[in-house]
Amino acid sequence: DVTDVGVTDVVVIGAGQAGLSASYFLRRRGVDHVVLDANDAPGGAWLHRWPSLRMRTVHGIHELPGMPFEQPAPDERANEAIPSYFARYEALHDLPVVRPVNVTRVRDDGPLLKVEISAGVWTARGLINATGTWRRPFWPHYPGQETFQGRQLHTADYQGPEAFAGKRVVVVGGGASATQLLMELAPFAAETRWVTRHEPVWREGPFTEDYGRWVVGLVEERVRAGLIPRSVVSVTGLALTEETRAAIESGVLRRRPIFSRITPSGVEWDSGASGTGEPERFDADVILWATGFRHDLDHLAPLRLRGPGGGIQVDGTRVVADPRIHLVGYGPSASTIGANRAGRSAVRELVGYLEIGSLAAA
Ligand code: FAD
Repeated sequence: DVTDVGVTDVVVIGAGQAGLSASYFLRRRGVDHVVLDANDAPGGAWLHRWPSLRMRTVHGIHELPGMPFEQPAPDERANEAIPSYFARYEALHDLPVVRPVNVTRVRDDGPLLKVEISAGVWTARGLINATGTWRRPFWPHYPGQETFQGRQLHTADYQGPEAFAGKRVVVVGGGASATQLLMELAPFAAETRWVTRHEPVWREGPFTEDYGRWVVGLVEERVRAGLIPRSVVSVTGLALTEETRAAIESGVLRRRPIFSRITPSGVEWDSGASGTGEPERFDADVILWATGFRHDLDHLAPLRLRGPGGGIQVDGTRVVADPRIHLVGYGPSASTIGANRAGRSAVRELVGYLEIGSLAAA
């Protein structure tokens, strides 16, 4: 016997940028809904970003619909400035966010959906999933990994460079987090090595809107085909700035190919694998996996939405296999600007499909 917690038209899961945008547009159309969020406080994944991440280093935060984001000082912590903006936003628009509520499973129940939480079950006609990726750090596996006697951590566990003082550190990963963390911790570390699977692609020049659209288009093609989305950043390449240029010159951002194995004391390249033609090894105290995140969708497993391509096929934000369900902040909309647009279009479609709320507004 499960306790009925409530009945509503739409449940939104997650109160990050994507969930809040969806809730804003649901409110505007007068749709009865609830936003269930696992965090203790407003902020989505920003609440958990490492304390040394300052506003100056984030790429640019797009404001939420219906409230300007006054640019915080460059030195402000991202994990304070953005959560504080989200908190004011939720209050201003009186969004029905309930927290902390962790959704464990969503089940199909005839025309309805049952959204299970520890206290019982919510019943809804439609679902907007906005659970992001932060809770699913991706750890690849390499031979010997479990024998390593030093410390291994993921970007998601990173708390700042001080913990690396005097250490020999391997940073794995070809994205912006890897390069940012390397530049930040190298002055503290005794020695660093940067390893990536593929040769990094450095992007010169400004990140124009046309370029952004092209990148988003590439990710969109994948999710339309039901493939697992790549991160938008993985397609954009790495920004060649004054800071990265200096780090390339100083050797901090000198990339090595991925090692052949991990040993108890470090990492090893077979003959030729490191590019020198010789076998090579690096004794390490720490391996930092800056290897990205995956979409957090396990709670949707009972709905069997995954197709043969391994991903959930979507058309825009609508799940092709079940039009009552929309994924926002997913694939091409996994950025602050993309999340805004996804929230709006998911609501527009869902309102039409379920014949709820007002079609006219927003
Ligand atoms: P999130 O912010 O991750 O929110 C998801 C919410 O869902 C969380 O509150 C979580 O607790 C909740 N949740 C998850 N699972 C459940 C569950 N089962 N039940 C209940 N609640 C659940 N994008 C930009 O546009 N500009 C940038 O500068 C930028 N910098 C970035 C820097 C870093 C280090 C990273 C990792 C990403 C960055 N991004 C940036 C990407 C951007 O953060 C995201 O695309 C966007 O903020 C994600 O918003 P979201 O709403 O999809 O998810």
